[in-house]
Amino acid sequence: MDITMTRYDPDCIFCKIVAGHIPANLIYKNDHVAAFHDINPVAPVHALIIPLEHIRSLSDLKDGDSEIAARILLAARVVAEKTGVLESGYRVVFNNGEDALQSVGHIHAHLIGGKTMGWPPFAGREVAHGEE
Ligand code: 5GP
Ligand code: ZN
Repeated sequence: MDITMTRYDPDCIFCKIVAGHIPANLIYKNDHVAAFHDINPVAPVHALIIPLEHIRSLSDLKDGDSEIAARILLAARVVAEKTGVLESGYRVVFNNGEDALQSVGHIHAHLIGGKTMGWPPFAGREVAHGEE
């Protein structure tokens, strides 16, 4: 990816991955998004799907970004298939802002799978889906 793209932050770790300045274990890439394995996986499958352009968070998406927004979601099935969790199931999570513990300010969908998950996804409380 060249760095002449319209939105690029030279200090952003995910922009650096897109630009090839730091390595990542790539799963999938097209003209709109890239997907790679999370460096600190929380499950057997933990991928990140990011737009190639720098957009800080879901809250910064504009109407004109509708294609990018769709492309992130459309990549989920491809990434699930490539990581082997399309049939077993997976969760797609966007951490957005401080309370949600977003730590990288470049939109990313976490695609998590390969194990049975708890719900709700609050720290320290792992329960079966629907359990009190
Ligand atoms: P957040 O906390 O913002 O929702 O998610 C950021 C994610 O990016 C974390 O799960 C973290 O492990 C991952 N991450 C941070 N830096 C890197 C990196 O340099 N490479 C990769 N592959 N993942 C990273
Ligand atoms: Zn960025």
